Formats: sequence, structure tokens, C-alpha cells
Amino acid sequence: MLSDFTITRVRKSRIGEVDFDNLPFGYVFSDHMFTMAFADGRWHSPEIVPYGPIQLEPGAAMLHYGQTAFDGLKAFRGPDGVARIFRPEMNARRLHDSCAALCMPTVDAEVFCQAIVALIELDHAWIPQKEGQSLYIRPLLIGTEVHLDVRPDRTFRFFIISAPVGAYFDQSAGGVSLKAEDRYTRAAAVGGLGFAKTSANYAASMLAAEEAREEGFDQVLWLDSNEHRYVEEVGAMNIFFKIGGTVITPPLGGSILPGVTRDSLMTLLRDRGVPVEERRIAIDEVMDALRSGAMEEIFGAGTGAVVSPVARLQYRGEALALENVPGPLTRDLYAELTGIQTGRLPDRHGWNLRVPLPQAEAVAAAAR
Ligand SMILES: *Cc1c(COP(=O)(O)O)cnc(C)c1O
Repeated sequence: MLSDFTITRVRKSRIGEVDFDNLPFGYVFSDHMFTMAFADGRWHSPEIVPYGPIQLEPGAAMLHYGQTAFDGLKAFRGPDGVARIFRPEMNARRLHDSCAALCMPTVDAEVFCQAIVALIELDHAWIPQKEGQSLYIRPLLIGTEVHLDVRPDRTFRFFIISAPVGAYFDQSAGGVSLKAEDRYTRAAAVGGLGFAKTSANYAASMLAAEEAREEGFDQVLWLDSNEHRYVEEVGAMNIFFKIGGTVITPPLGGSILPGVTRDSLMTLLRDRGVPVEERRIAIDEVMDALRSGAMEEIFGAGTGAVVSPVARLQYRGEALALENVPGPLTRDLYAELTGIQTGRLPDRHGWNLRVPLPQAEAVAAAAR
């Protein structure tokens, strides 16, 4: 269906205005966006247009009741000039699951990937190339019907926008500090929306995150909503603990976002022969391991955060710190993951969707 979508190019690119040496996360957007509309039970009018404002009436139910879902992935440009999109079919599947949970229509995985490839072909100059930089791709699906009835919309719009980004956390700061949250809840432990990338979960997280920030922490470590006892995840990343040689991460039980980075790191860990356990881990076990010195490393994993070392954790007023952050495994996993993503290391699991770019073809032709 995408073979006949229209492309309206910008008259003048904004790329000259961008300071690629200083890219805050998600404030600058590339020239173009993909969009298509849903009505009468089907998607129609796929097109690529200049990035810009959209029109919505204040009476649009989505603005009130939150029928939205999004996703997030990255494109990289390697030293070989090839653009690589990391595991987009995983994001397509997750967006599908998010939309299904919210009574929203889903986007076919093939259409999803084709649209991203088309956007990358057009905006490839926006993929930054310095260490730690990438083009962050943000698919977004929203209801667009104007009504105040509490029921699913009948019309929707799908967008894919992209943003050149640098590191999500300042890696030079020597690790992230977390506050384990024992009052507020991000998502219900049973029967909630925690597995979906939808606005409700992020709205629910703001107050706790602000309070943590005022107390000097970077992020909140969420605990389960029933007992505030078991570790779930961090605001935008999944969490891993290395205790006594074994890496432990909480299981996907419906309240945790099933991260693509989480899945990828578990594969890389198994490849290395490092024992990995997906199991419930109580905050008391984490604090005990920190106190006794059995805790070797803690790291977060997410598309934005990549592999982020955790340096400090506070729970109920007790702050404990790790030494030698980032630890060797955190550092190795970061290097291996980004090496695969940029094409500097072999892609042995076939994770990258490669998009040959005009210069890359020229380089390859010259080499022949
Ligand atoms: C996106 C996200 C993650 C990380 O998922 P990735 O697919 O690795 O980017 C983890 N937790 C939350 C709450 C998220 O929104």
C-alpha cells in the first residue's frame, strides 16, 4: 500500500540551523514526517510531509481521555555510510500491543517498517554520526474524533517523526542516581497498562519523578503497586542487577514495559555465558546486596538510555552507592550494543534493518 504514497518535500531544509555538537534529547526534529489517517475501518492517505503543527479541536476526545500510543527506536549511520534501524519489527509488535490495549487500530508491521525506511531515505542527513548520537524515531498513534463521550474514537492518525539526539543521560556524570519509590505507583501490578507505551503511564509518573529530581535524583525506581516491595523498572528504562556473578532483571508481568534493549541485552548476556535470571527481586534483596558488597553492578537499558550505569540508590531514606561505576559488564554491554547498532561489530542476530544511502553506494562502487 505504501508504494503509492505521496511525498511533499520541504522548500528549504532546517538542518543548517542545528547544532550537532549539542543535541538535547528530543527538542529538534528532522525536516519530514510520515502520516496516515484511519476512518471507516481502514488506514488511508499515507504521505510524507514537512514536519509541522497539526490541527486538533479542543473537543477531540483524545486530549481528554488519552487514546494515544507511541513507540521509540533509533537509526544509526555507521562508518560505512549505511543507515541501520535497530529491530524495528519489535517496535511494530509493541505498538500493536499498546494499541490493542487502548481500543485503537493497529499498524501493519510491514507498513510501519516501510514508512520508517522511506523517512530515513529522505532525512538521512539528519542522522548524526558522533559517538553516542543517533536519529531517534518516534511513531505516534492518536485518536482524532471530536466528541466527549467516553468510548473509543472512530478516527485516528498515525505519525512518525524523528529527532537527532545525543546521550539521554550525561554519561560523563559517572552514573545515574535512583530513588526507589515507596508511595506512588506508575502502573497497576495486575490488569493495568504498564506494558503499553501510552500517555497514561507517563502522566502517572510525573509527580514522583519531580519530587525525586528536587531531592537530587535522576530517576525513580518503581516498585510494584500492590506491596511496593518488588522492583519493576525505571521511568524510561528497564533495570538489571549483577549480584554474585548473576544478572537479574524483573520479569514481564504486564506492569513493566517490554523493552527492546532489555531483550537485546539478555541475548548478549547469554551469548557471553553470563547467567541471566528473569525473576521477581525485592527492594530489600537489592539493598542487602548493596550493603554486603555482593552487588557488583546495576544498569538501566532503554533505547534512549542505551546501557546506563547506576551509581546510587536510595530507599526509605537510606542512600547506598556503588564503587567503580560504570562496571566492566556495563561498559562491555554498552560497547557491544552500540557496536552492533552502528555496524562496527558483526550483526550476528540480524537485528539491523539496513538502509543503503546514496554516498554508501558511491563508496561501495569506488571500492569495486
Ligand atoms: C520505552 C521504555 C523502556 C525501554 O524500552 P526500549 O524498547 O528498550 O526503548 C522502558 N521502560 C519504559 C517505561 C519505557 O517507556
